[in-house]
This record gives sequence, C-alpha cells and structure tokens, in this order.
Amino acid sequence: MDPSDILGALQRTTNIKQNQLTLQEIAGLREDLRRKEAEEAAAPKCPYCAGAISNGVAKCRHCTSEVQWCEVEGKAYVLTAEEVPQYFVQQKLHELAWEKQQRAEAEKLLAEAALKASAEKQKEIDEMNWPSAGAIIIFFIFLVFIIAIFISEAVR
Ligand SMILES: [Zn+2]
Repeated sequence: MDPSDILGALQRTTNIKQNQLTLQEIAGLREDLRRKEAEEAAAPKCPYCAGAISNGVAKCRHCTSEVQWCEVEGKAYVLTAEEVPQYFVQQKLHELAWEKQQRAEAEKLLAEAALKASAEKQKEIDEMNWPSAGAIIIFFIFLVFIIAIFISEAVR
C-alpha cells in the first residue's frame, strides 16, 4: 500500500471518528464505490461462484475452479469445462440458423426481383402492343371512310 493511501485512510478514520467526514470526501468515497462496482459488473464472472474473474486466467481466484474462455465478436466469455462443448453446439446451430435465414432472405429477394422483372416485361409487351392496336383502329376507321366514299359514289 502506498504511504499516502495509508495516511489518507488514517485521516479518514480520524475524520469518521470525529464525525467530520466532509461532503467532498463522502462524494469521493461514493465515486470510488461506484467505479469499483462498475468494474466488477463489467468484468467476466466465474460460472461457478459468480465472482469477478481476470481476463484469461485458468482458475477462479475466489473458488479455485478451472474455467474456459471463449471469444465471440471480440468479447471474452468465461465458461465451465462442461459448457464449452454445449457452447460450440449452440454457436454452430446459431450459424446454421443464420445461414438458413440469409438463404431464405436471398430467395425472397430473388422471387421479388423475378416478379418485378416479369411485371416490367408484361408492361413492355403491353406498351409494344398499344401502337399496333391503335393502328388497327385507325385502319378500320380508314376502311369505313373508304367504304363510305365507295357507297356515296355508287349511289350517285
Ligand atoms: Zn469462482
């Protein structure tokens, strides 16, 4: 322990004894406590005793149990030896489920694209047919006009 820490602790004890703990000191102690709690909450937990565990250690310093480490997307997890195979099975199942989902999504997108393409193709065909349908109508009007002229000529 650092001598200044000892001095500080002694000073604090004296202050507590004298009931003179300042608001600033109380705030400081609360901050220390909060920081310690946050550190412990963030630290990996021993799967046997739930005690905080240092990264990479093979044994829990609280209960001396042997632990295993697994890394998922950059975050380290601590597991029991029995959990490890189960963990890998879960990981594999998760990956397979993800792949299946990806494939289903890809198939859905392809089906949508095919539907859209066929709708566009149909629209194109309709648009291509439209002028010829118009031409047929114009042709019939023209035919009726010609017949009318012929009839009027015949009647005369
Ligand atoms: Zn432990």
